[in-house]
Amino acid sequence: MRHFAIVGSGPAGFYTAEALEKAYGEAGRIDILDRYPVPYGLIRFGVAPDHQSLKAVSKRYDKVAESAGVDFIGNVTIGRDVSVAELLGLYDAVILATGAPHDRKLGIPGEDLPGVVGSAEFVGWYNGHPEFADLDPPLGGSHAAVVGNGNVALDCARILAKTRHEFEGSDIVGHALDALDGSAIRTITILGRRGPHQIAMTPKELGELGQLEAAVPVVDPADFPPVEADEPLEPGLRKSVTLLRGFADLADDKRKRMVFDFFAKPVRIEGDGKVERIIVERTELDEKGAARGTGETYEVPASLVITAIGYSTSPIAEVPFEGGKFVNQAGRIADRLYAVGWARRGPTGTIGTNRPDGYEVADQIAAAIPAESESDREGAAGLKRLLESRGVMPTDYDDWRRIEETEVSRARPGSPREKFVRHEDWLKVLGR
Ligand code: NAP
Repeated sequence: MRHFAIVGSGPAGFYTAEALEKAYGEAGRIDILDRYPVPYGLIRFGVAPDHQSLKAVSKRYDKVAESAGVDFIGNVTIGRDVSVAELLGLYDAVILATGAPHDRKLGIPGEDLPGVVGSAEFVGWYNGHPEFADLDPPLGGSHAAVVGNGNVALDCARILAKTRHEFEGSDIVGHALDALDGSAIRTITILGRRGPHQIAMTPKELGELGQLEAAVPVVDPADFPPVEADEPLEPGLRKSVTLLRGFADLADDKRKRMVFDFFAKPVRIEGDGKVERIIVERTELDEKGAARGTGETYEVPASLVITAIGYSTSPIAEVPFEGGKFVNQAGRIADRLYAVGWARRGPTGTIGTNRPDGYEVADQIAAAIPAESESDREGAAGLKRLLESRGVMPTDYDDWRRIEETEVSRARPGSPREKFVRHEDWLKVLGR
C-alpha cells in the first residue's frame, strides 16, 4: 500500500486525488487535508456566489471524496499542527495544493488606508470565508474603484452592481447580501493599466455586464484602436473586445454605472484617515506592450478601492518559495514533495486548468513511486496519532456532510445554502 497526502481540498487537490486514485487503484490511499472542516477551497470561497453552474463541479469532487481510496481530513493546518517534514515521514508523497489565497500588493503610497481592500478579502467576505467575515467594506459612499482588468475584477464589480433580486439562487452569505442591498455606491470605476486589447476578462463574464438590472457598463470609444486591429486577436480575446466595444451602444440610463477606465495606472491612494480618491497616471503602451506612464495624472473618487491584481501562495516553513509560489520543476519541489495548481503555476487559468495539471503530477508520482512495492509508511493512522498527541481534532467527510446539511437547511428561499462563516460554528454543528 502507498500513502499520499494532498494538502488543500480545492480543485487542484481534488483533480490530483482523482488522478492518483486512477493510477494506484487499490494500492493507494489518498488523504486530502484542509485547514478547514469544509472542503473545496476556491469553489466555496473564491468562485462567485452568482455563478452556481461553476460551483457545481464540486459534485465531481464529492464522488472522489466518497470513493474507497480517498479520505478528507479537515481542521488540520500544515506548518502549524503538523510540518511538511512530518508528513513526508508518514506518507510516500506529499502534494501541496494550497492555492494562492493572498492578495498581491500594488506597492503604492496610501494602499494601507482603511477602505482599500484586496480582492481575496472582498471575495472572501461575500463568500463567507471565516478570515474575512468581519471585513465590513465601506459601502456608504457613492464611488468605488476596482483595480485590475481580469475576471476577478469583473466579479468584484458585478457583485457591487447587482440588486438583491439578482442574487436570488446564489449562495452569497446573508451579511454581504444585506450590506450590498443598503449600498450607496452608484459608480464603479474599473481601472486597467493597459488597454482594451490587453484585458484578461473572458467573454461569458463580460457579457453578463450588459444584462444587469440596475447597472450599465460604460466605455469610451476613444480608448479603442480601429476595429480592423481586432482581427489578429486570439478568438476569445477578440470576442471580449467586441463585447466591450458594444457597451458604447448601450443606453446610459440605469441607477449604477460601471465605468471602464483604460490606460490608467494607480500611482497613489489618498484620503483623510480613510480612502477618498485614487490618483492614476495616464499610460500608453511601450514597444513591448507594457504600460508606460505619460506623466499626466488625475483623480478618481472612491470611498472603497478593491485591488484585483492577482494572488500569491502562503509560504510553508522549509518549503522553497519564490515569486509567490513554491519553487518547483514541472510540479516537483523535492524528493517525494510536489506542488499542483496555483501553488505550482501561479494564479492563472480556470478551474479546469487544474485537471491536466493534477494528472501530470500524478503521472510523475506514479513513475517515481511504484504501486507494486510495499511502503513502510503509516499514512493516516500515524497522522491521526500525531494530531491526537497535540490536541488537534481532525474532521472527516461525514462531518462535512453534516455541516453541509445544516447549511442547506438554513438557506434563504431559493438559495442553495446559508454558509456558516465562523470556524467555531462549523465545529458547533459537530458538537465540538
Ligand atoms: P488576472 O487574470 O491575471 O488579471 C490580473 C489583472 O491585474 C490584469 O489586468 C493585470 O494587468 C492587472 N494588474 C496586475 N498588476 C497590476 C498593477 N500593479 N497595477 C494595475 N493593474 C495590475 O488575475 P485574476 O483576475 O486575479 O484572475 C486569476 C485567474 O482566475 C485568471 O486566470 C482568471 O481568468 C481566473 N478566474 C476565472 C473566473 C471565471 O472563469 N469566471 C473568475 C475569476 C477568476 P496587466 O495585464 O497589465 O498585467
